[in-house]
Amino acid sequence: MDSSSDKAVNIKTVARVRPCFDGTNRQSSLTINSESSTVTVKLPNKEQIFHLDNAFDENSTQDTIYKSVAQPIVVGFLGGTNGTIFAYGQTGSGKTYTMNGLERDTKADSPTRGIIVRAVENIFENLNATVEKNPCSFKYSLKCAFIQVYKERPFDLLQSGDVEVTIQGSREQVSFRGAKEFEVKSVEECIKYLRNGWKKRKTAGTSMNVESSRSHAIFILTLFTETIEGTLINNRTSRLNFGDLAGSERQKDTNNTGERFKEAGSINQDLLSLSRIIRYLPTAKQGTFIPYSSSKLTMLLRDSLGGNARTAIIVTIHSNCDFVRDTMSTLTFAENCK
Ligand code: ADP
Ligand code: MG
Repeated sequence: MDSSSDKAVNIKTVARVRPCFDGTNRQSSLTINSESSTVTVKLPNKEQIFHLDNAFDENSTQDTIYKSVAQPIVVGFLGGTNGTIFAYGQTGSGKTYTMNGLERDTKADSPTRGIIVRAVENIFENLNATVEKNPCSFKYSLKCAFIQVYKERPFDLLQSGDVEVTIQGSREQVSFRGAKEFEVKSVEECIKYLRNGWKKRKTAGTSMNVESSRSHAIFILTLFTETIEGTLINNRTSRLNFGDLAGSERQKDTNNTGERFKEAGSINQDLLSLSRIIRYLPTAKQGTFIPYSSSKLTMLLRDSLGGNARTAIIVTIHSNCDFVRDTMSTLTFAENCK
């Protein structure tokens, strides 16, 4: 397989438009063509077309997004392949809605539940079915962790207080010293940790006083499986990261000074490192140096970006023409990731 087809298989970039419901009925700046997977942005004197792997308009459901974007990566994870699914876009464009769904809305039948809850349901359904079929020859253990990266400092969202985390490791396996990993035995248990972490992220009651729009939140699942075939024991470990990234809005438009200015610089730097690495990965030969250590975010995702790992990038955008500059910059990021 050549590198371009590797790329096609392993990195998918899609756009999702958020519905406009602020009552102002602002003119749409976008045309979505799901057949050609393009987003056309209307500017005063011209149009610009962005080519992606898929484009979803504002009527797309959580179910459609999960099945077409996330499920293939979840299937890979169950089979031993690492994966990363993340949402990128300006604040208010639907990153948290896409990844997490509506707040408190994690019920099994709720149509608005997001990618993470659906993935967890899918994972347990599959693992439990495998155990049922092979009660003597298949065992698994699933663990979750939840880390927030703010201004290049990773913190544990599953412990109270500000517990800083040290990220170490290689392309084979990343470890996060200081963060608690919890073994989870059911969908409900896993969702409980997820919700606790989101709550902690939102309350901003820490000394960092961080608003969720300025930090990255990564929910991490690690799966160990043991399959016995005759005298052969096959152990596998895989990891799946779900990222709700900091808002990608153009920081230089705001009058940030002092701490805010440093913070804005750090967010831009992280997102830049991420897009550089993603752009670079498909053509990188084995053994090539890849600058994962250029940011904490890329260090954390290192074992699940590139190589055999599968990545889905969902860029979320507003159709509202007021946001056209940020929309253009988000779509440029997406096209650069392809
Ligand atoms: P972000 O995390 O990017 O800042 P949010 O996910 O919080 O943005 O979305 C902003 C608002 O828009 C929230 O009220 C959210 O529920 C709503 N929203 C976002 N995307 C959608 C969508 N596809 N369908 C319905 N509501 C959405
Ligand atoms: Mg959010």
